[in-house]
Amino acid sequence: MQAKADLHVHTIYSHDSLITPKDLVFYAKKRGLTAVAVTDHDRIDGALEIAREKDFLIIPGIEVSSRNGHIIGLNVQEPIPKGLSPDETVEKIHEAGGVAVACHPFALFKGSLGKHVSAKFDAVETINSQAFPFNRCVRRATQIAESLKLPCVAGTDAHYGPAIGYAYTVVDAEPSIEAITRAIVSGQCQPFGRSVPLTLTLERQAQYLKKRLFRAPAHSQIVKVQ
Ligand SMILES: [Zn+2]
Ligand SMILES: [Zn+2]
Repeated sequence: MQAKADLHVHTIYSHDSLITPKDLVFYAKKRGLTAVAVTDHDRIDGALEIAREKDFLIIPGIEVSSRNGHIIGLNVQEPIPKGLSPDETVEKIHEAGGVAVACHPFALFKGSLGKHVSAKFDAVETINSQAFPFNRCVRRATQIAESLKLPCVAGTDAHYGPAIGYAYTVVDAEPSIEAITRAIVSGQCQPFGRSVPLTLTLERQAQYLKKRLFRAPAHSQIVKVQ
């Protein structure tokens, strides 16, 4: 049995994402995914709430800002502190019963781990649809995964609903959180996908700007002069 999962998605619980829980499930189903990992920046509450409420297989996760770059914890039920070293962060994820993924390790402008990826990780995200420059990021991440003999996974890093599913991991597992994460650790998985088209990125930025403008701060109100 195979499961098809986007292992890196941000929801509105991340300050920079537009994806509501409803959007998340809508686009995941539309793209034919079996599961989605919700990996908001340094928080787990949203992922746990969505996993509880939605009629779809949600893997609760977190994208932790370690001292030297971003690290994803999959299948965790508690927050993992930010600001620790990569090794300490991986240990905390393991103590919480989770799977540690070195996400977008060579992407520019993203808080990437680079040389801090080590064999302590459980997997490397070799395809990240938002990574720039995309082909170079895939090549270098694949090289490091191979040299450390780590499994390769993929995720979109989507912050906008229509971007969900541009990358996904096919896992040899039945559709359950435990089975999927166990299969990833043992390398029974394969990454697929491509970069999000520029038109979608621009569309997302326009939507994000609209949202920010709509929520204009109080000091921007016009004050009547007596
Ligand atoms: Zn990141
Ligand atoms: Zn991310």
